[in-house]
This record gives sequence, structure tokens and C-alpha cells, in this order.
Amino acid sequence: MAEGETLFCAFHPGTPTTLRCNRCGRPICVRCAVQTPVGYRCRECVAGQQAIFFNARWMDYGIAAVVAVLSGLISAPIVAALSFWAIFAGPLVGSLTAEAVHRLIGRRRGRWIWLVVSVGLAVGLAVWRLPLLRASPLLLTRFLWDGIYLALAISTIIGYLRFWR
Ligand SMILES: [Zn+2]
Ligand SMILES: [Zn+2]
Repeated sequence: MAEGETLFCAFHPGTPTTLRCNRCGRPICVRCAVQTPVGYRCRECVAGQQAIFFNARWMDYGIAAVVAVLSGLISAPIVAALSFWAIFAGPLVGSLTAEAVHRLIGRRRGRWIWLVVSVGLAVGLAVWRLPLLRASPLLLTRFLWDGIYLALAISTIIGYLRFWR
């Protein structure tokens, strides 16, 4: 760009400017420029980036729910047998479930995938535990380990699917 060359905003052709979007290179005026951690960008580039960040399809939520419920169903009897050792099963089941979902949905990201997986896992566990609870409420102490297991599994899932990637 030559010194003193006058640019006009790509979105407002009548507005002279000296700024350029640092991603697509288009001249942009102060009204169009969005300040990002990596510099000024046009709104289109910022919007495009956000769309890529959350690119999960509706099908992905269905897959995530099915995988999570299955994982909850499979792990519930194991957790019941483990009692105290359930504190190790929580993070393990959480990370395995999150990894399985992540691969099955083609590594796409969804804003609420973590929530669907967490609820699915809890539903899988509840299917096993609720009839037990109705049969004998005195078994409540046993649900302590279930609660700890579920809390650890869900915090692992949130860390994995929401923040890590
Ligand atoms: Zn741009
Ligand atoms: Zn503009």
C-alpha cells in the first residue's frame, strides 16, 4: 500500500479509512472493524470464525445422547460394585464417553454437547438406580458413591467437551 493512498471501506464505499481486516485484507472503516485479540477484523470474518467454532449438526446431538445413555447404562452396574472406587470410575467413564462422542460426531463442536452428554449419562444411571430406590429407600447411602461418581464424570465431560477443545 502506497503512503497516503486513500482506501474506502468495503462495506461503506463512501467512507475513507486506513484500516484493513487482518484476515481477508479488505479495507474497513471504524464502524465495521471489530477488535479481536489478534487485531482488527471485518464483521464477516468474525462471524465466519464463530460459525466454525460451533459447527455441530442436529444429528450430532442425537448421537451424543445415545452414546451417553449407553455409557451410563453400561457403567452403572460396574459403579455399584466398586463403591468407594467409583471416585476413579467417574473421571474414567467421563473421559471415555466424551472421547467416544467427540470421535463419533466427526470432532465437530456444539455449544450444548457437554450438557446432552452429562444428562445422558445421568439418565443411563437412573434407569438402573430408580427401581432400586423404590424397592428399598434405605439403600440411600449407596447412592452417595453414585453421586460422587456422577459429579466427577460430569465435571470431566464439561472439561473435555466445553473447554479443552
Ligand atoms: Zn475480513
Ligand atoms: Zn464500513
